[in-house]
Amino acid sequence: MTIIQKKSRTRTAILAAAVTLFYEKGFQSTTVQEITTKAKVAKGTFFNHFPTKESVLHALAEERLTDLPQFRATIPAHSFSILSQIRATFLFLLKDYDIHPALTAQIWKQVAENAPILLEHWTLLLREAELELSREQTIHFSHIVNSHMAYTMHAFKNEPTRLGLVKKVMALIETSFEAISYKRRPLSMKKLVVLGAGYGGMRVLQRLLPNDLPKDWEIILVDQLPYHCLKTEYYALAAGTASDHHLRVSFPEDGRLQIKYSTVTAIHPKDHFIELANGESLQFDKLVIGLGCTDKYHGVPGADQYTHSIQTMGATRRTYEALNNVRPEGIVSIVGAGLSGVELASELRESRPDLTIRLFDRGDSVMSQFPKKLSSYVQNWFVEHGVDVSNNSNITKVEPGALYNHDERIESDAVIWTAGVQPVDVVRELDVEKDRSGRVVLTPQHFIPNQPDIFVVGDCASLPQAPSAQLAEGQAEQIVTILKLQWKDEALPEQMPRIKLKGVLGSLGKKHGFGMMGERPLTGRVARMLKSGVLWMYKYHSG
Ligand SMILES: Cc1cc2nc3c(=O)[nH]c(=O)nc-3n(C[C@H](O)[C@H](O)[C@H](O)COP(=O)(O)OP(=O)(O)OC[C@H]3O[C@@H](n4cnc5c(N)ncnc54)[C@H](O)[C@@H]3O)c2cc1C
Repeated sequence: MTIIQKKSRTRTAILAAAVTLFYEKGFQSTTVQEITTKAKVAKGTFFNHFPTKESVLHALAEERLTDLPQFRATIPAHSFSILSQIRATFLFLLKDYDIHPALTAQIWKQVAENAPILLEHWTLLLREAELELSREQTIHFSHIVNSHMAYTMHAFKNEPTRLGLVKKVMALIETSFEAISYKRRPLSMKKLVVLGAGYGGMRVLQRLLPNDLPKDWEIILVDQLPYHCLKTEYYALAAGTASDHHLRVSFPEDGRLQIKYSTVTAIHPKDHFIELANGESLQFDKLVIGLGCTDKYHGVPGADQYTHSIQTMGATRRTYEALNNVRPEGIVSIVGAGLSGVELASELRESRPDLTIRLFDRGDSVMSQFPKKLSSYVQNWFVEHGVDVSNNSNITKVEPGALYNHDERIESDAVIWTAGVQPVDVVRELDVEKDRSGRVVLTPQHFIPNQPDIFVVGDCASLPQAPSAQLAEGQAEQIVTILKLQWKDEALPEQMPRIKLKGVLGSLGKKHGFGMMGERPLTGRVARMLKSGVLWMYKYHSG
């Protein structure tokens, strides 16, 4: 072994011992003596490598900083604003915060306060951003970033998550930058606000974030939940055959994306701002509204009070609890035999063989909008599996413990409503033109007439095809096309092509399924396997 190799090995051993002790006892309580004992080296050897205990922290930071240029190569300056680049850099440097918050905060506080290595990185980043700053201004800005980092690591060291910590430091940096660069356009970001991280909202993010967001734009996503929910699987969550966790997909992590967890309470299209339940108001330059839908009760008395829902994650969790607490051999009624009612009834049949399950359908046969072969297959499945289907039903009232079909009282331990949807309240309350279902009428380019900066996607939008996750995604693709043309100041097409849908797939429990692939009806195990495959692919590409 050469002398250099030996020295490097000793240094690594000291670092490993120090890190272990810092994790166990904290930085302050660990002594150099303890580090040398653990590393099995003499005290003099320690000081040959590290002049002070603090310099061990610098060495740990250096390890991460060595990988920084490689990481930065993945966030090209031409497509990320300077603030997004700084945010992405923080996320990278603080990678270990969620595992070792105290030590990570200590390391970066120490480095930001005392070592020039980090400062040099900020200076380089600002220089490469081509902000037309003088040399002095660039250095000045680097010091601002560095001192905000040091302050945040000290003042907010108890912040529970990395994202929260980065949010805090970025708030300080943005305020300082805005104050200093008053009227300096490259630093102030324009905001594309996306309301709702459903199928439509997520697709907008997925398409814009890799390469297509202009440099001076950032995205702010608002959702009441901290993950994207697989709404198409809510029937399985309600029946108790899929876990809650199985239905969640993480949001993308990107320096140009800010996420706000709150409920949207009002949208002001003309004044370009929205209000959130947490009291915040949010200005936007462009807006995509994708808040999905909620139940529509068609004025049936008691339906809103005494039925359970599978339209939101929260409501579905409550439905799961209600369904799985139904007494042995109890009675469950499901109102509505569209795709979601059919899937819920069949899944519940497998989950609770003891229950009497009643499915109330308005039509002559279930899934009557589909070809006869398919609708008969589904109807027969219910007959064979002991689900009572009441065709041509009309639910006139719901009360605790019962519903009324054509005014005939039917005892039910739980009633689930899947008989109609409408956009969420905040969209219904928007003062813009809507169709008969309360969906927002749009131009062919998917924005509100005379409001080219406000798009509506998915279940809230009035479109020629029936609402579905596939349609929301297809529409989101077209919205992204329009946004890109607007950003380039290019003419918009007068019409958009009809959104192509691949087909419909539904499940009948875990083994059987049905669907339409183009014009072709599909039934049985193959349809079920295809449905599972589509779900797997979706999670794989989104997660
Ligand atoms: C049981 C079931 C099965 C289905 N199966 C299929 C299927 O097989 N294929 C298919 O194509 N479609 C299916 N659908 C329909 C599909 O789920 C919807 O059409 C699709 O989810 C619509 O997407 P979206 O982006 O408009 O809204 P959503 O996916 O509903 O997303 C809306 C988002 O907005 C958030 N949000 C809502 N209100 C607020 C607020 N006020 N503030 C903040 N955030 C808010 C929600 O948390 C959510 O993240 C099914 C639906 C159900 C219920």
